[in-house]
Amino acid sequence: MYVNLGELKEKGSFKELSITYNPDNIDYFSREVKMPEDFELNLTIYRESEDYIFTGSIEGEFILECSRCLEKFPQKVRQELNFTISRQDIKDISKVNISSYLKEVLILAIPIKALCQEECQGFCSQCGINLNEESCNCSQEDVDPRMAKLQQFFEQE
Ligand SMILES: [Zn+2]
Ligand SMILES: [Zn+2]
Repeated sequence: MYVNLGELKEKGSFKELSITYNPDNIDYFSREVKMPEDFELNLTIYRESEDYIFTGSIEGEFILECSRCLEKFPQKVRQELNFTISRQDIKDISKVNISSYLKEVLILAIPIKALCQEECQGFCSQCGINLNEESCNCSQEDVDPRMAKLQQFFEQE
């Protein structure tokens, strides 16, 4: 994603942009987060003496994988942004690449634990079926294997 900062010649000048932005998928700690649709990007770029200050928001949709049942599901995202680029880090003032900054903003919006629904049942720990779709006859109590031995012992008495 490139922006042209050439017109911001004086300190105190600014411009506003409303554009669509298509982020690449993010590989986040080996969890791939897909972003198939364009994101809406609203930016205000303000020129300080040696810096350009970017504020605004980015809005769109992630496709996440549920950490319990592994189903993919969409999640709306809206993240405020605020970053600064120094004049000395810019090679071509008419074509400033801000993709890496936007990516950092998006990474902050990725939930550490994603659930397709609050009460997602996930998989049965014994037979492995998806408990959101089917039910099984396994005992749903998570019995500690050492406790199970003890339980057997008492049942034999
Ligand atoms: Zn789920
Ligand atoms: Zn089961």
